[in-house]
This record gives sequence, C-alpha cells and structure tokens, in this order.
Amino acid sequence: MNTQQEQDAIESLLVFSLKIGATKAKCLSPDDICVEDKLAVLCHDPRCPFWGQSMSCPPHIEGPDSFRKLLGSCSYTVVIRLEIQACSLHGEDRPLVMRLLHETVAEVEKKAIQLGFHQSAGFAGGSCKPSFCPEEKYCSALTPQGRCRHPEHARPSMSGYGINVGKLMEAAGWPSRIFSPVDGPDGLSWVTGLILLSQGGGESQVNDY
Ligand code: SF4
Repeated sequence: MNTQQEQDAIESLLVFSLKIGATKAKCLSPDDICVEDKLAVLCHDPRCPFWGQSMSCPPHIEGPDSFRKLLGSCSYTVVIRLEIQACSLHGEDRPLVMRLLHETVAEVEKKAIQLGFHQSAGFAGGSCKPSFCPEEKYCSALTPQGRCRHPEHARPSMSGYGINVGKLMEAAGWPSRIFSPVDGPDGLSWVTGLILLSQGGGESQVNDY
C-alpha cells in the first residue's frame, strides 16, 4: 500500500472500531507506546491470581523485550477504549466486560488484516482465563494438544508485556480519570486494547494460538 492507501485503511479501521462498540479509537505511532519492564514484573510480584494460568499471560508470553521488537517492526498502532459503568469492573460482571474487550480487539485485528495490514496483532487487558475458560481446570493451549478454545477472540494480556496504559491514554489524548467517587456506582470507567498494524506477509503470527 502507498501512504494514501494506508491512511484510508486506517480511517476505515477507526470507523469500524467505533461501529463494533469501541467508545474511542485512535491511530498512534509505535514511538508513542511506552513499555516498562517494571510493569510486567507486577504480574508476579505481587502475584496476580491468574499468573501462569493461560497462554496469554506470563510466564507463557515473551514479555517487554519481545513487545519492543514487535513495535519496531510495525508501522502504526490503533488504541481503542471501551467506556463502561465503573461498577461493572467489579464482581461477576468483570469477566464479561473483559471478554467484550478481548472480542472487540480481536475483531479490529481481523479487520486490519483484511484491510492489508497482514501481520496485525491485538492485545487486550486482563487474563483470558476468567473471561473465556472460567469453568475449565486448565488452559487447553498449555496442554500437549496446544490449541486455545477461543483463538478467534482471546488475546494476550497487555500487562504481561509491560505496556504503560496510563501513558497510552495520555498519548491518545484521553483522560485517564473519568470516574469520580461522587459519581457513585453509575460513574464511568474504561478498559483499553492495542492493535499493532504491520503489512508484513501472510497471516498474523503473534496471536497464532
Ligand atoms: S484456552 Fe485460550 S481462552 Fe482459554 S485460558 Fe487458554 S488461552 Fe485463554
């Protein structure tokens, strides 16, 4: 694609993201994405209850250095944000909200591939285990058969790669804090995902579960 074709494809992708449920979507340069080793460490210190429980979380993903390499090989990124009721981030609604985020990111990734960014890869917040396989004892992608039960929708965790989400919001120009305690349970909060756009050749290999 030439530059104009790339810009047209990105514009279509942003419109598509909003159409399928993202509240906000923006194209950022890979240089705008901040990755910090110390943030990835927080997955196991203090240990997240889902650490090690799925293919999409540490120690089964490669971490910050691999993400920096991916950023170095992509041309653009798209950040999306879903704004939701703050109370839905707690209790039994949380896995459903995070599942919606994973599904939205995966759909944007798929559309990016259709639009010509053949090696695009999406990353979402939170572990896929409680959202997609809560009743299963094991993540099937970690078994000898090695296949994810939901390869079309589950995506790797942004936390495990050390992506600084606060700085991501800053780069997009979106306020990190939209929920005030005085808003009560009906106040708004958000979850976010990131899609790396690369033309490369063939299918996306990063999220080949
Ligand atoms: S099978 Fe797939 S969706 Fe389920 S926990 Fe493993 S990686 Fe996540």
